[in-house]
Amino acid sequence: MSAKILLTDLPYEQLASWVAEQGEPSFRAQQLFAWIYHSLVFDFADMTNLPLGLRQKWSDLAIIQPLQPLETLTSADGLTTKVLLELPDGDTIESVLMHYEGRHTVCVSTQVGCALGCPFCATGQSGFKRNLSGGEIVGQVLYFARQLQEQGTAITNVVFMGMGEPLANYEATWQAIRILNDHRGFNLGARRFTISTVGLVPGIRRMAQEGLSVGLAVSLHAANNALRDRLVPINKRYPLAELLAACQEYVQRTGRRISFEYALIQGVNDDPGQARELAHLLRGLLCHVNLIPLNPTAECDYQPSTRERIMAFRRELNRMGIASTVRLGRGIDIQAGCGQLRSRQRKAA
Ligand code: SAH
Ligand code: SF4
Repeated sequence: MSAKILLTDLPYEQLASWVAEQGEPSFRAQQLFAWIYHSLVFDFADMTNLPLGLRQKWSDLAIIQPLQPLETLTSADGLTTKVLLELPDGDTIESVLMHYEGRHTVCVSTQVGCALGCPFCATGQSGFKRNLSGGEIVGQVLYFARQLQEQGTAITNVVFMGMGEPLANYEATWQAIRILNDHRGFNLGARRFTISTVGLVPGIRRMAQEGLSVGLAVSLHAANNALRDRLVPINKRYPLAELLAACQEYVQRTGRRISFEYALIQGVNDDPGQARELAHLLRGLLCHVNLIPLNPTAECDYQPSTRERIMAFRRELNRMGIASTVRLGRGIDIQAGCGQLRSRQRKAA
């Protein structure tokens, strides 16, 4: 690959330094930043208020959008679109755009694969390849933002729930948030971001110090250590008591309600006694539980809970004062649901 610099790896101040190194005045940095993040123009040739020579020079030195779409799938209901994107080194990732009433949410990947090996997750089964850079994360958002712009609308939310564990790639994840939050450009409010983590305690504690109230979702899936050790192997390193203490700190520091993700697996974590155990665990914490019927993956025998089991689980939580929502299965027909993302192109069925 070329040694061109990826500009979406640079927060504003670093972009300004790069522009200054080129011997250009500082207003050029403002122009460039606005072209990329406000106008969503990724081709220097189209940056009409820059001198022609400068456009040529910069296109020889830098790139803005490093991602190439290889395959796009849209669900039958038209509300979910998944794209397989090629990175400059040939690795691939998937990103998803979901339309809700009044909301357009991008679900981004933070790693190629994932090292944490949760047995029910397709990404976890594929193993870990590498971290994405901040610019490669930003690029996923810009890719869909550009498409929505053409339709006269815009991204309203970014969720870090695609491939990989965002808190295992902490720097790049937060760099992407800070770039997209910057009011000089994309200007997406802190509250519009949600990081989903499997429960990396040091990362949660670090997030609590960032001074930006981004949403936190914690993938729980079990309410006791014995079961969680099986479903979420990293629980052996960060068991429930430590995890819940870090969550408590996050709520206290940011004032934000935490979401707990709980994928309901038939006969494994879905009986009413387990709902009561969950309610006890979360008692007193400002939180909400998202119940997700397990999305089947090829590699694993776990089955989703039946609708009756899901409703009974929810009733039990409700009775014990824990608010919950059953997450609608989104994009399941195109394998774009939670835990179904992977990095290879699938053969047509
Ligand atoms: N690594 C992070 C974020 C990516 S996974 C995390 O684990 O939180 C995004 C969400 O999908 C997590 O809540 C994860 O537990 C969930 N998930 C993974 N596989 C799933 C499956 N087969 N069915 C339903 N949810 C799944
Ligand atoms: Fe990794 Fe999250 Fe999948 Fe677990 S659920 S393997 S942490 S991506």
